[in-house]
Amino acid sequence: MRIAFIGVGNMGGGMAANLVKAGHRVRAFDLSAEAMARAQAHGCEPAASARACVTDAEAVVTMLPHGAIVAAAYDADIIAHAPPSALLIDCSTIDVATARAVAEQAAGMGYAMADAPVSGGIAAADAGTLTFMVGGTDAAFARAEPILAAMGKAVIRAGGAGAGQAAKICNNMILGAQMISTCEAFVLAKRLGLDLQVFYDIASKASGQSWSMTSYCPVPGVGPESPADRGYRGGFAAALMLKDLRLADEAAQSVGARLPISHHAMELYQAFAESGAGGRDFSAIIETM
Ligand code: NAD
Repeated sequence: MRIAFIGVGNMGGGMAANLVKAGHRVRAFDLSAEAMARAQAHGCEPAASARACVTDAEAVVTMLPHGAIVAAAYDADIIAHAPPSALLIDCSTIDVATARAVAEQAAGMGYAMADAPVSGGIAAADAGTLTFMVGGTDAAFARAEPILAAMGKAVIRAGGAGAGQAAKICNNMILGAQMISTCEAFVLAKRLGLDLQVFYDIASKASGQSWSMTSYCPVPGVGPESPADRGYRGGFAAALMLKDLRLADEAAQSVGARLPISHHAMELYQAFAESGAGGRDFSAIIETM
């Protein structure tokens, strides 16, 4: 299939490479020359502009930083420039309202569109083991599924337009709050004189168990290997966790949901990022406690 891929950065670069590996003809566009060079090295054809990228595409995939950039790219360069038969898939993490507005604009011009944000970081994007949460019509999902399957281990339909983004931010809202409570528990356990490996052995088999504990333990040398064992490098940057918590907070306000723990988690990650730690793994927040 001829696939246009716009935004071949940390995540999109690996994803586009996996589409090439699956036998697709991928034409890439990115504002960064470095990202373009990497995409070319992985077998993508370079495009000189976003419009040139989508001409003749059977599917367009975008993996861009945030909602305003996604809305501008669809408005200026994708909608009305890609063939009307092209399937449009946005894999970026953006706000639900923008995802729905872009999908509506696309549908108004006759396009099938899916929002398909991902769970999993750069390593999963490179390895083709992302989880996709998909919003869109049944027909759009049926067309998107085989394309996304080439980049991930799971492709799950969440509902209509914007539902993929809703599922993503609700999931990451749990993760942000859960990481903080896991860090707090280890800090208190230590101050109360517990051996942290012993506490891990207990809590990981008791009701305090969570993904933040058993797959991503914030304490170096405890549990499976995690960013804590690498000086909190790599993994999922605190700035990205802050971005997702802000999206969840905005969404909560838009529907009148009162979510004090998630709101406070956002404030804590904001203070952490403002202290200069935005590029560190989000589990490094344990060092502030
Ligand atoms: P990134 O900054 O590495 O990549 C984004 C790319 O988009 C950059 O290469 C940039 O040059 C390009 N770009 C920006 N504006 C553009 C435009 N108008 N036209 C073409 N290219 C443009 O970011 P990333 O880490 O790859 O994240 C991409 C998306 O994936 C974000 O929405 C992020 O929230 C989401 N995400 C990231 C991770 C992660 O671990 N990095 C995990 C899950 C989801």
